[in-house]
Amino acid sequence: MSTQGKIDLSFDKNHIWHPYTSMKDPLPVYPVISADGVKLKLEDGRELIDGMSSWWCAVHGYNHPVLNKAIEKQLQNMSHVMFGGITHQPAIDLAKLLVEVTPKSLEKVFYCDSGSVAVEVAMKMAIQYRFATKNFKKNKFLTIRSGYHGDTFNAMSVCDPVTGMHEIFSGVLPINYFVEAPSCKFNENWDEESFSPMDKMIREHHEELTAVILEPIVQGAGGMRFYHPEYLKRLRVVCDEFDILLILDEIATGFGRTGKMFACEYANIEPDIMAVGKAITGGYMSFAATLTNLKVSEGISNGTPGNFMHGPTFMGNPLACAVGIASISLLLSNNWQVRVTKIESILEQELSLARSFNNVCEVRVLGAIGVIEMKEPVDMANMQKKFVENGIWVRPLGRMFISCLPLLLVTKI
Ligand SMILES: *Cc1c(COP(=O)(O)O)cnc(C)c1O
Repeated sequence: MSTQGKIDLSFDKNHIWHPYTSMKDPLPVYPVISADGVKLKLEDGRELIDGMSSWWCAVHGYNHPVLNKAIEKQLQNMSHVMFGGITHQPAIDLAKLLVEVTPKSLEKVFYCDSGSVAVEVAMKMAIQYRFATKNFKKNKFLTIRSGYHGDTFNAMSVCDPVTGMHEIFSGVLPINYFVEAPSCKFNENWDEESFSPMDKMIREHHEELTAVILEPIVQGAGGMRFYHPEYLKRLRVVCDEFDILLILDEIATGFGRTGKMFACEYANIEPDIMAVGKAITGGYMSFAATLTNLKVSEGISNGTPGNFMHGPTFMGNPLACAVGIASISLLLSNNWQVRVTKIESILEQELSLARSFNNVCEVRVLGAIGVIEMKEPVDMANMQKKFVENGIWVRPLGRMFISCLPLLLVTKI
């Protein structure tokens, strides 16, 4: 029961599980009563500059008038209607935008509820494609270490077995293939050797591989690593050579975050299947999509059973589609590239100070992503308290301080 006018932290502590926390001895939580622009307002009146964009999502900041209006307007028409046997304008308009902004060959859109589900859908597409084309042997996935693809079972099976946060489930997960994470960093000169582990693995196991799945350019929650675009170019070529699908998880990197609309543009390649989520609704609602090309969609549809076997209850939710349309349109009309470049230079300038600290291992910046990697794991509760005392919201992860700012942060450009 809530105490009048006050957020009941003791109820929260006793009854509500927060992400990756204990129910017995949870990390502290901070009560937020509202959020506006780049700021979160705590119950005690303190305002914090948000350095997280609520896990990469809130690209326009909070309480944005255009996004609010889009969702309010849609609410007057319908907040939800089933997608089986029914369609609606918001779903069509959002799909048009997605087809337009993603790589050219991605023409088919499958809507789902969250990033993890978008990854499940992508992996199911890759399996069903082989089933439909009677290539039953190709039923395994290959990925790189230090990846993160979500918390559901198949997504967990391609997360880094150690840093991907799902180590304890290893005994019950489907076995997939892993190669070491790309060793050639984003800013280094390309080192051909850094592709050999991937090349070797594909040559050895291609008969069993339906797809390679990975995050392009920036590996997020599994390691916050930025790798060389040439790696993806090589990968595309080898996948084609051995009839292996390429699945790119752009859930964290999509919608301008890295300085390109989608990170695969750095390598000038197109995947067969792409998962998008997080910023798709500007951080307003849980929503995601999996896009694919004609090869996969025709492959699945021409075979048996012909239908793609997935269909979540809230598929194509109109409120989410409406706010998604508004968010992507706003990005496109708002000089997002200039804003991201500006944020990148501010992050580079301000974070570079940390390079001289003894306990810092590396500082790296790409687009609107800033990372300070420490030598030792960070005491999350303590550091978070210090940040809050300084008016900042940042949530460290393992040895990393990560900042993914709302692109709105730079208002004067
Ligand atoms: C966050 C994330 C996911 C999972 O998305 P959810 O919406 O949390 O299920 C998958 N892949 C990547 C790269 C992510 O960053």
